Amino acid sequence: MVKADWRTVNVKKSLLEQIERIINSDEVQKEGITNTSQFIDSALKEKLEELEQKRFSHQNTYENKVRILDNKIGKMGDIVTIFLKEELKKGFCDYCESESCVHVKYMWELEDVVKILKKRGFQSPYVESVK
Ligand SMILES: [Zn+2]
Repeated sequence: MVKADWRTVNVKKSLLEQIERIINSDEVQKEGITNTSQFIDSALKEKLEELEQKRFSHQNTYENKVRILDNKIGKMGDIVTIFLKEELKKGFCDYCESESCVHVKYMWELEDVVKILKKRGFQSPYVESVK
């Protein structure tokens, strides 16, 4: 079967056999995964998300701004500043000049920062991932 949106990659036979052994387990089925392609798809997505997380790291929080290191910009990574606009109750990224960029999204994933933001009545432009 040839699917236009898919590409073929080589996977070690032993690894594939390992997947095939657990594909019918309750744990895997519970995630809605029914075949090896789905399993690999899901595992890769998880890995990509993990790497994406490492792209950013929280530097510091001030009264009016949150500073975040972005390892993907500049030569060695650079720090972006999200200004906390009290009058709008929104964060504004100086790098993207946006209220809803990846940096703002990351800021809203930082538990300690979110606590402070909520206390001050700020609202996330995203579906909240931190309760
Ligand atoms: Zn940004």
